[in-house]
Order: sequence, then structure tokens, then C-alpha cells
Amino acid sequence: MNPFSFNEFQDQVDEVLIRHKSILDILTKLQESSSKINRAVAKSVTDCGCIQVHSQKQSAPTDISFSELQNYLTNHVEGYLCDVCKEKIGEEISNNIFYIAALCNTFNINIDDMLANYASQLKTLGTYGLL
Ligand SMILES: [Zn+2]
Repeated sequence: MNPFSFNEFQDQVDEVLIRHKSILDILTKLQESSSKINRAVAKSVTDCGCIQVHSQKQSAPTDISFSELQNYLTNHVEGYLCDVCKEKIGEEISNNIFYIAALCNTFNINIDDMLANYASQLKTLGTYGLL
């Protein structure tokens, strides 16, 4: 199997995206695909039951460093996705990324370059870049 390339993926998206080529279609399909991710996660909880969400206010001691904060915070998910739910959520995320690629194509943004630049910023700024 060849390593994945966003450049090739962007080219594939450009080749197959014909019907929803308008920026309005791309933006609304992107939003729709994001909603489908949320729906697939919710169905994993409420329909399948392979995961549970136990949420509450996040709390941590006030005298800790920012880097220690991750030891106190949780994603509120308990359990693990079953194979069916993992595949469904993966499909919805892939569809979302498809429309991200279409959006990038519309504005001539190279995803590899964009992500390399972002990764470089993350590396430089570390956790302070996300505050
Ligand atoms: Zn499941």
C-alpha cells in the first residue's frame, strides 16, 4: 500500500467533484458532513451503546502548570467504539475531509503545505499556541 498523500487526494477530489462544484454547495456540504459526524457519534452512544458519555464540569487544581492540566481533564467518553461504529464515524470524517479538500481546491490552497505550516506553528508555539 502506498503512503497517503494529501496532494493526490486533492487531485482526486478535483476530478470527482462535479455536481457540487459551487462554493455554496461545498460550504453547505461541509456543514452537512460535520453534522453527520456528530450524528454518528451520538448513535454510537444512543443506538449501539458501545460508548457512553459521562460529562460534568471539568475541574483541576488552580496551582498547577498548564502542562499538568491534561492530567486532570477528560474527553468524557467511556468505552471503545465497536468496529461498525468506528467504520461509520471514519466514513463521515472522510466525507468531511473530502469537502475540506474541495474548499482548499476552490481557493488554490495546498493541504500538504497548509498542514506543514500549521504543524510548524504548533511545534514552535507548543501548547501556548492553543490558548
Ligand atoms: Zn458501536
